[in-house]
Amino acid sequence: MAQFATVRGGKAHPEIKVQTGLFINNEFVSSADSQEVIDAVNPFTEQVLCSVVAASPKDIDLAVTAARNAFNTTWGKNVTGWERRKQINFFVLHHSSYGQELAELETLNNGKPFKIARDFDIGDSVQCLRYFAGWADKLAGETLEVDNKTKFAFTKREPIGVCGQIIPWNYPINMWAWKVGPALAAGCTIVMKPSELTPLTALKLSEYVKEAGFPPGVLNTVPSLGPVGGAALSSHLDVDKVAFTGSTLTGRKIMEAAAQSNLKKVSLELGGKSPHLIFESCDVDQAASWAALGICYNSGQDCTAGSRVYVQESIKDKFIETLVSKVKALSVGDGLDQKSSAGPLVSKGQYDRVWGYIESGKSEGAKVILGGDKRSGKGFFVDPTLFTDIQPNMKIVQEEVQIGVLIFGPVLCIGTFATEEEAIKLANATTFGLGAGLHSNDANQCMRVSSALEAGTVWVNAYNILSNNTPFGGKKQSGFGRELGSLALEEYTSTKAVHWNFGEKLD
Ligand code: NAD
Repeated sequence: MAQFATVRGGKAHPEIKVQTGLFINNEFVSSADSQEVIDAVNPFTEQVLCSVVAASPKDIDLAVTAARNAFNTTWGKNVTGWERRKQINFFVLHHSSYGQELAELETLNNGKPFKIARDFDIGDSVQCLRYFAGWADKLAGETLEVDNKTKFAFTKREPIGVCGQIIPWNYPINMWAWKVGPALAAGCTIVMKPSELTPLTALKLSEYVKEAGFPPGVLNTVPSLGPVGGAALSSHLDVDKVAFTGSTLTGRKIMEAAAQSNLKKVSLELGGKSPHLIFESCDVDQAASWAALGICYNSGQDCTAGSRVYVQESIKDKFIETLVSKVKALSVGDGLDQKSSAGPLVSKGQYDRVWGYIESGKSEGAKVILGGDKRSGKGFFVDPTLFTDIQPNMKIVQEEVQIGVLIFGPVLCIGTFATEEEAIKLANATTFGLGAGLHSNDANQCMRVSSALEAGTVWVNAYNILSNNTPFGGKKQSGFGRELGSLALEEYTSTKAVHWNFGEKLD
């Protein structure tokens, strides 16, 4: 197949050239042994944008070999932190100059609004890479006194090696930056497997990797179906670590594959059924704005989406009325339209899954107070849908632990509570623990509740804000390991202890 395709873009870039091969050793290549392709679809038009090569297990093996060779020669311990920092920063300068084109490609393949892709997804990923570039020459160990005066020990932080990175489709550019940044800063080399639903921006970023002068093999990109390429990467004997973001179901498979192959290090960022508590002392207008953002941002396709709002009974009516008016003010439409604040869902599969949940909510007796009706015409649209009168055992309220799949759409369940104790109990009644939010103007209550919530991240009088210097990750079945912040570097380094004798002689 041709090694590139021309994709129809928006006004700024009517035509975007996309490399369609696998990116191995800084070259775009065909599969070594397969003719399989992946169709990248535009979720607004439902049309195929282009087809890209789907990596086979053999291709994954070739990419791992390329990454291993680079680790042993041109990257890894062979380059100083200062050189890695310079190289990553050079890439960032290069990548930010292509922001418009990259953002359009993201909108075309993922559906999210162009302005959000450009200003938030790309803006934030540039900052993320800069943040981690800054760490590359600051990874220090310790000097330790040991048992007597003739010996000491020191520790060194060394790159862990070849890393498989398996990312989802909801934030293709951010997830790329969150994983690539700390790995490259630490000196690791990478085999990146983007989601089969959104491979195009990872391929575009690979072009920039080559143009920015990274040595061949440092970063390889292998679009592939999860059970093929993702599974091959997780069970590969020469991969030292696998970093994953996606569903709990897949996270379990990755852990199993790691355990049964070479016990590679694993980090998992999985889903959540995140609670958002609204206490009576809060600023209702602000709380409603954050709750609307919490469920509607990225069309609810967000691992920390605040999909369960619990409001104190005394302010229930006022809060719900304000929330409905905020959500109604959002405009869901074509991502290339400047007026859209949210786009369609990413795929037909996701569209069917979310509609399945909405229908089950209706049939189980929850009350729809906004949305809940399908649109006619093209595009995988789900308008924000708000349910009240929920019961704890309803399918829309419960997460499906066995299946490991969440609604992952703009569908909000609104319940009530009488006391702080009840609110905490409702919030923590989940096997997940990724994010949680609370709104209150009582500082002591903010402190008590934020301590009691079982989640890796808690937002007080806000929701879904993240910062590149602040760790992000889950508790319970939302996974383990941390991304962002200095803790992300722990995931990509191993600590070597060196014991040094400068006096003691054995008899
Ligand atoms: P998924 O877990 O199937 O896919 C995520 C990534 O894992 C993709 O790159 C996929 O190719 C890969 N993958 C799939 N099967 C694999 C396997 N056996 N071995 C290795 N890698 C594999 O997620 P999905 O099907 O795209 O979405 C389903 C649900 O996952 C969503 O409804 C949502 O609940 C959850 N999800 C969570 C996040 C998040 O940010 N935490 C992101 C996307 C999806």
